[in-house]
Amino acid sequence: MLWFFYCKGCIFMADNSFEDVKKQIDSVSDIMNLDEKTVEFLKKPMRILEFEIPIEMDNGEIKNFKGFRVQHNWARGPTKGGIRFHPEETLDTIKALAAWMTWKCAIVDMPYGGAKGGIICNPRELSKNELEKLSRGYIKQIVEYIGPQKDIPAPDVYTNSQIMAWMMDEYEKIVGHSSPGVVTGKPIEIGGSKGRDKSTGKGVAIMVKEATKYLGIELKNSKIAIQGFGKVGGAAAEFLEEMGAKIIALSDSKGGIYNPNGINFSDVVKWKNENGSLKGMKDCKDITNEEILEIECDILIPAALENQITEKNAGNIKAELIAEASNGPVTPKADEILNEKNIFSIPDFLCNSGGVTVSYFEWCQNISGYYWTEKEVYEKLEKIISKAFRKVFELHKKENISMRKAAYIIALKKVVEAMRLRGWN
Ligand code: GLU
Repeated sequence: MLWFFYCKGCIFMADNSFEDVKKQIDSVSDIMNLDEKTVEFLKKPMRILEFEIPIEMDNGEIKNFKGFRVQHNWARGPTKGGIRFHPEETLDTIKALAAWMTWKCAIVDMPYGGAKGGIICNPRELSKNELEKLSRGYIKQIVEYIGPQKDIPAPDVYTNSQIMAWMMDEYEKIVGHSSPGVVTGKPIEIGGSKGRDKSTGKGVAIMVKEATKYLGIELKNSKIAIQGFGKVGGAAAEFLEEMGAKIIALSDSKGGIYNPNGINFSDVVKWKNENGSLKGMKDCKDITNEEILEIECDILIPAALENQITEKNAGNIKAELIAEASNGPVTPKADEILNEKNIFSIPDFLCNSGGVTVSYFEWCQNISGYYWTEKEVYEKLEKIISKAFRKVFELHKKENISMRKAAYIIALKKVVEAMRLRGWN
């Protein structure tokens, strides 16, 4: 069953992401003059929930699924972040993703802290009925710890608006009143925001547009390769094509396609819908998910899972600009290699902040009961995230530091200041 997937593309996951987060914090703690106690606080999630979700499967068997919710830091407001359904999910990855949500919300000035959740499961092997039970079971286990003013989940890898609908419904059933602001990324009919569906991809396209402007790269006719043709990579491809760029390579979990003369977005969507994968597309050469990263292109967009660009392949990357649409696609060692090669990166929590920004818009609309047009959503989105890009770019230039370090400094400053005002450090 493929109908339900919210997907940043599924490649593989490696398992030391939280160590990477700690290294990233250490890389700026001296420049920022952070004291040891504060650094230790930032390196620890404030709450970790780990639980079993027993489900009666369609064949009558009871099966237990492991679930997690990590609330990393709520100094700036209720925590916010997606829920992933993945067979190789780990607590370590969720901890890293929760911390990145803290920085992400701070960098775009959303009044939130960061969180992330997940269930170890393979949604492809579950029926719609089993998925619904799992989604409701997850909420039952965390109901006391979520709410519009506590922690607000959203879709992430392999979860979608239908799953958010079940989750909201389960929450409302338990608390006994309407509460659409408890999750974002819902279907529009029950309180979702216009534009939320494509917001992360739209945000990535805006970030690329901003970066090319500042770097003096011509976006029109530039060659773009995108690893991960899910909701994020797909929408980024659509908007970048509209801006005049040429998509020359694309991939999904089963492999990729390449055509140096450009691949038409609507043709590829049609092909994938008819064939279930990108492979074999007319006029294109089939390539692997590893090859796509090393392809001759101007802009590379990793939009799949974490740890895709490592010390093993970073040296072979030919793009001059990398837009990190997924969370954590570049390891710290690879980051050093890319910096030495002078490849410009838009760091993940800045690059993909369009999703949480429109989640915030959805939450505001739910709380006020006043709903916006798609035009309003996209205009507000563009204003917020291009300003965030500009601030990071200016610091990167002024201090001659990498974009990631600049983004970390700006985000951490806001989190640390909120902690100080609350008397937490
Ligand atoms: N899952 C998305 C992210 O990683 C969105 C999170 C949200 O909207 O809360 O940014």
